[in-house]
Amino acid sequence: MNEVKPPKKPLMFYATIAAMLILVMNLFMLPRVRKMTVQDVDYATFMSMTENRQIGSVQIDGDEILFTNADDTRLYRTGAIEDPELVERLYASGAHFSSKIYEDVSPIVTFLFSWILPILIFWLLGRWLSNRLMSREGGPNSLMFGMGKSNAKIYVHSSDGIRFADVAGEEEAKENLTEIVNYLKNPSQYQEIGARMPKGILLVGPPGTGKTMLAKAVAGEAAVPFFSMSGSEFVEMFVGMGASKVRDLFRQAKEKAPCIVFIDEIDAIGKKRDGGAFGGNDEREQTLNQLLTEMDGFESNNGVIILAATNRPESLDPALTRPGRFDRRVPVELPDLQGRIDILKVHAKKIRISDDIDFEKVARMASGASGAELANIVNEAALRAVRSGRRFANEADMEDSIEVVIAGYQKKNAILTDKEKWTVAYHEIGHALVAAMQTDSAPVTKITIIPRTSGALGYTMQVDEGNHYLMSREELENKIATLTGGRAAEELVFGTITTGASNDIEQATRIARSMITRYGMSKNFDMMALETVNNQYLGGDTTLVCGAETVNEVDRQVETLIRRQHGKATELLTRNRAKLDELAKHLYSRETITGEEFMKILNRHEEGKSENASPDAATAS
Ligand code: ADP
Repeated sequence: MNEVKPPKKPLMFYATIAAMLILVMNLFMLPRVRKMTVQDVDYATFMSMTENRQIGSVQIDGDEILFTNADDTRLYRTGAIEDPELVERLYASGAHFSSKIYEDVSPIVTFLFSWILPILIFWLLGRWLSNRLMSREGGPNSLMFGMGKSNAKIYVHSSDGIRFADVAGEEEAKENLTEIVNYLKNPSQYQEIGARMPKGILLVGPPGTGKTMLAKAVAGEAAVPFFSMSGSEFVEMFVGMGASKVRDLFRQAKEKAPCIVFIDEIDAIGKKRDGGAFGGNDEREQTLNQLLTEMDGFESNNGVIILAATNRPESLDPALTRPGRFDRRVPVELPDLQGRIDILKVHAKKIRISDDIDFEKVARMASGASGAELANIVNEAALRAVRSGRRFANEADMEDSIEVVIAGYQKKNAILTDKEKWTVAYHEIGHALVAAMQTDSAPVTKITIIPRTSGALGYTMQVDEGNHYLMSREELENKIATLTGGRAAEELVFGTITTGASNDIEQATRIARSMITRYGMSKNFDMMALETVNNQYLGGDTTLVCGAETVNEVDRQVETLIRRQHGKATELLTRNRAKLDELAKHLYSRETITGEEFMKILNRHEEGKSENASPDAATAS
C-alpha cells in the first residue's frame, strides 16, 4: 500500500486562481466604482444643501436619494418624499444627475457571488462527501471507514520476517508448504514442465496452532509480500461492499505478484450457502461469489497464491473447496509431545530462563495445549519470575503457569471454612486415589486445594506418559471412575454430598455418552453411529442422529455406565479408607502436594495395592 500517487493539487487551488482572475478583470475592465461610506442624513439637510448649491451628483432611486457634496468626496443618503419640484430645484442648484453614483459591487462580482459561488460550494461539498464515502484511502478518516476498500494488512517481506524455523512442530504442514515456497522462488521450473500450482490452500486446524504463522512463514521464506485479511473484515454494513473489498484486495495482490494473500477465518464468508427461508445473507453470498470469481479469474501461474485458514472446514461451501479453488488442504493439528517441546523451546528463547528446565516434563504437563497456549505459558512464566524478583524463569514458574493457563490464578481472598477445606481435601484425594488404584490411569502429578479464579476449589493433575492417540474402553471407564472418585469420597466420609462435583459430572457424562454414541462401546448398538460431531476442531458439539426411542435407551445406558464406575470408585475408596484419611489429612495441612509425595504416602501401605491390582476385574463381578 505504499503506492506513490502523483501529488494532486487541491481543487481550492484552481478555484482561487479563477476567483482572482475575475477580480482582476473586474478591477481593470470596468469603470472605477466609487467606494465611499454612505452617511444617512435627513431630508432637511438635503434640502438645505440643495439650496446652498452644495450638491455634486445626485441619484434618485425609488424612495431613496443618494447624493454627494460639491467636490464629490462624501456620499449621503436620504429617503425620498413626494416633492414634484425636487428635480427642478436640483437642476437650479447645479447638481448633475447620475445613475451610478454609488455601486457597492460590480455586476460581475454580484453574478459571481450569487450564482457561481453557491454552485461551486455545492460542487465542492459533493465531491468531498463522495470522496470520503468511497475513499480509496480508507482509514479512520473516511466517513464510512473505507468501505469497499480491502484494508488488507500488507507485510512486505523483510529479513526479520517469520520463517519456517519460527514455527515449531507442524512438520507435515511445513513440508506441504515448502512446495509453494519453491514455486514462488522459482516458478519457471514448474511452468516448464506444465505443472499447475494450486491457487488456494486451506490451512485447517484448531485455533492457536500457528496457521497464521505458517502463512506468514511461507511469505517470509519465499521473500514475497504478504496480504492478510480476516474473513470477518469482508462482512460489511451494506450489500456489495464486501464484494468490492474482495475486488480491491485482488487488484492490489495482482499488482504485487508474486505474493501471498492470506484470508483468516474464511468460514466467515465461505459458509455453505443455504437456500435460507429468509433469502439468506445476501452480503455474505455476494462476497463469496466475488471471491470465487476472482479465484477463477486469474491464472494459477501469475504468482498470487491464496492461503486461507479455518477451524470449521466442514462448514465451508463446496464451491470453495472444489478443484481450481482451495483444492489443497493442509492440516495444522495440535502439537504432539515433541511438537510441544519444540514450541516451548522456541518461545523460551525469547525470555531468560535457567539452564535446568526440563522441557519434556513441562510439555507433558501441558498435554493438549495449542501453540498459542504454550506461548502464553512461557510468557506467564516470565511474568511470574519478575513478580518474585528473579532474573530468570525456572521450571517451577513454567509448571505454575501451566496451572494458571489451565485453572486460572490462585484466588487469594477465597476463604473456605474448615469444613469446606476438609471436603475439598477428601474430594481431591478421592480422585487421586481412585486414579492411582487403577492400572490404566495417567499418574497423578499434583494435587492442590488452593482455590482458583476459575471457580475450582482444588484440582488433581494427571499427566499422561507419552502421546496418546487411542483410548481403550478400560481407560475411558477408568477415567469416569476417577471423575466420580471425588463425590464417592465425600459420600463415604461425610455421608452427604456437595456441589463441588458439578464439573466432574459434566465430564464423566460426556465421556460415557461418547462411548455409547460415537465409539460403539456398548453391547446393544454395536457399531452404530448415534451422534455425529459437528465440528472437529471447536469443542466438538454433536448432533444426535437416532430415533426418539434410541435416545431413551442411550440415556439409560449412559446412566448405567456411570453408576457402575461410581460404584467401583466407592468400593476402591472403602477398601483404602485408611489411605484416604491419611492423604486427605496431609493435603489439608499442606494444601498442595506433588505426585511423588502422594505416591510415597500411598506406597507406605503396601497391603492395599495388591488387593486392587486388577480393579476392573474386581468391579466386573
Ligand atoms: P492460528 O492462526 O492457528 O489461530 P496463530 O498462528 O495466530 O494461530 O498463533 C498464535 C500464536 O501462537 C503465534 O503468534 C505464536 O506465538 C504461537 N504459536 C502457535 N503455534 C505455534 C508454533 N507451531 N510454533 C511457535 N509458536 C506458535
